[in-house]
Amino acid sequence: MNVKSKIEQLRQQIHDANHAYHTLDQPLISDYNYDLLLNELIQLEQEHPEFFDATSPTQKIGGYVLDKFEKVTRDVPMMSLSNVFNQEELFKFIERIEEVTSSEYIIELKIDGLAVSIKYEKGLFKQAATRGNGLVGEDITHNVKTIKSLPLKLSEPITIEVRGEIFMPHKSFLKLNEQRKRNEEPLFANPRNAAAGTIRQLDSQIVADRELDIFVYAIVDPQSYTQSHKDALALLKKLGFKVNQHATHTMNKEDVWKTIQKFDQLRKSLPYDTDGAVIKVNAYDKYDMIGYTAKSPKWATAYKFQAEIAETTIQDITFQVGRTGVITPVAELEPVSVSGTTVSRATLHNEDYITIKDIRIGDTVRIHKAGEIIPEVIEVVLSERKNQPPFKMITTCPVCGASLERIDGEADHYCTNDSCEAKHIGQLIHFSSRVAMDIDSLGEKVVETLFEKGYTKTITDIYHLHQYREELKILPGFGDKKVEKLIEAIEQSKKQPFHKVLFGLGIKHIGAKVAKILVNYFKSMDAMLEANIEDIQNIHEIGPEIAQSIFSYLRNEENITHIQKLIELGLQFQVENQVIKEHQFNGKTFVLTGKLESFSRDQASEIIESLGGKVTSSVSKLTDYLLAGSDAGSKLKKAESLGVTILNEATFKDIIHE
Ligand SMILES: [Zn+2]
Repeated sequence: MNVKSKIEQLRQQIHDANHAYHTLDQPLISDYNYDLLLNELIQLEQEHPEFFDATSPTQKIGGYVLDKFEKVTRDVPMMSLSNVFNQEELFKFIERIEEVTSSEYIIELKIDGLAVSIKYEKGLFKQAATRGNGLVGEDITHNVKTIKSLPLKLSEPITIEVRGEIFMPHKSFLKLNEQRKRNEEPLFANPRNAAAGTIRQLDSQIVADRELDIFVYAIVDPQSYTQSHKDALALLKKLGFKVNQHATHTMNKEDVWKTIQKFDQLRKSLPYDTDGAVIKVNAYDKYDMIGYTAKSPKWATAYKFQAEIAETTIQDITFQVGRTGVITPVAELEPVSVSGTTVSRATLHNEDYITIKDIRIGDTVRIHKAGEIIPEVIEVVLSERKNQPPFKMITTCPVCGASLERIDGEADHYCTNDSCEAKHIGQLIHFSSRVAMDIDSLGEKVVETLFEKGYTKTITDIYHLHQYREELKILPGFGDKKVEKLIEAIEQSKKQPFHKVLFGLGIKHIGAKVAKILVNYFKSMDAMLEANIEDIQNIHEIGPEIAQSIFSYLRNEENITHIQKLIELGLQFQVENQVIKEHQFNGKTFVLTGKLESFSRDQASEIIESLGGKVTSSVSKLTDYLLAGSDAGSKLKKAESLGVTILNEATFKDIIHE
């Protein structure tokens, strides 16, 4: 390949990785590999200035600005740091500084999270913004406010802008993924992606629940406040910020190297992820002397730790069947120790994942723990490959033998057999789980036993179990008390509200939140059955995939019979609420515009829907109310011309609090 094609290929690869990572929160490659690609590109571009391109990924500091949040333009752009990957590169970086001036260095852990800038005015929290492209970021003020370790009032009435790293501690990450697993929502690959996905939530309540954290590590325009980085960290601490305690002051390059090696050991026991160490010149008066490149300062760099990687062999690829029939391939590994624990299995996600990485049974593979937690296959060691045949996706269900199907546009295969045992057991477990019908005594093991013995094959069977009291009592591990408790819990579950029942049915794409939205909107199963696909699609927050899924489900005869039986058994399939029926918003159509102070748009929409109203996106003759925040534009004008009732935020609040 010639140099020009190589450069173009790298640009495209990095561009794709950037988009997947920054915009979609779905990383394609590991950060370490990303940094290697970027460094290779930087080097090639430096050697071949004739191929300069203003749109090359090297010309950005990284990231795109999403449309969802207001944009914030900075006075001082957030720069990114250059990277070094080994001792030699690190020493070169220091030697270049020492040629200009002798220096002392502060070494800090590089926290693996999201950079943020935060403004305080007279000691009061004012505004927070993401890095974005460095100059323009997103306003995430409301979300950052929820981070418990961040002070909203400083210990001094100082006006200051600081920079920090928002991250998700391991504990919060494990809790969040556990929850998502129960809801059959896609898991986050690592704590950093979970933090990124969280900070982009429009509902700050969700952000608060997920327990993000922040280390503050720098002051913007620091010379106005202190003389050195060491003093700046002390000042930040004094002002009330959470400053990482491991920052170390060193005098020369040998000490810098020793500290980095110490950090590389230390990080394995920390309750949060780090991906390197930051080395900064301590004295601010040397910054201008040492200078800057177009992209980054020459007085600071990031040393990137290499992730702990182990080699092992894939003994087999097995397949799990989920409640929706989704097939998940799993690598069965020769057990190997990685980052302190023994790893014997790693998820391979889906056919595409395996094909792209060309993973074959018998291959030697390099694995690591993504975010130091989830085992992941990085790549195949091709030099070790004998002559194993390429992986072939199974075509039939490993549990029932039915054929599998892959829907256009989806990466997953599904078992097509509606009576597949794996699906039924999975559905029963989901239905009785705490997040759905909350039948405490009907856990996984009990469900499996009752299924195998033939007592519960479907959800309706659960509600007939009381007929088999005596038979159940003599089953191994059951007994009088346990059976009575189980039957009581099943009876109690009939009181679970409609949205829990709907969620419990385990319809594809209908998670807990979507079930709530649908129930708030339709109020009853009857109304839901009458709805056409457009009605469903027009609901705020319901995408076409979800609409299609619920619509198809409700057009299936068997499902309708099933629902009918559950209604007869006394389960809740409607919401009864007199307050809503009489509320002035009930049945009214809303459009939201402008900026609201007390709510996010999503929160306001939820309130309206909970009171029986619906939210649409454009103003027409059918609009009853326009809720207009500050800076309302064309929608306000149109609403005025059509004679639509306009509510300001204060009036809206008065009405909902009535
Ligand atoms: Zn099957």
